[in-house]
Amino acid sequence: MKKTLHSQNDQFLLSSKGQLIGWGASDVKNLIANANRAKTESLNSKERITIRDAECIFAYEWLDTFVAQGVKEDVIKKLNSRIAHVRYHHVLMHSARGMPYWRHVANADQIDDPELAVTYGVAHLLAIGSFVNLKRCRMRSCQNFFIGRPDSKWCSKSCGSKYRVSQKRKRDRS
Ligand SMILES: [Zn+2]
Repeated sequence: MKKTLHSQNDQFLLSSKGQLIGWGASDVKNLIANANRAKTESLNSKERITIRDAECIFAYEWLDTFVAQGVKEDVIKKLNSRIAHVRYHHVLMHSARGMPYWRHVANADQIDDPELAVTYGVAHLLAIGSFVNLKRCRMRSCQNFFIGRPDSKWCSKSCGSKYRVSQKRKRDRS
């Protein structure tokens, strides 16, 4: 999440101590990078983790659920059960270019731990379609999450060619 004042392009707003914080669809990149970091650095098995590490682990868990199980009703229920307490105000915003407009602003003080912060972010990104093409790299040693075309199987060209080489080796052996 960006720690900056909001701009009109930010889809979502939070308020904390009278300050508005904006974020939006582009933050899906950070979320995916965090989830991949949790896996690459095996943060789950670390003895001491930082708040940043915890955010990565929670991001990993949600994305893993989406890819492995799909976004079923019970997943939505679980998301709701974590963040349903968050209150939103309806705030009239000034616009320099035209009519004032209404925005919903979440109370950031109620999103006060890494698990809630990630869950809040994931729920909002989910609702604007950010995970429609969420995939997991088929290369066993990689398994990174990525957003790809419906038919893409690997996170990168190098994973694709490594995968083909390993398949060819398997075929040659048998
Ligand atoms: Zn890969």
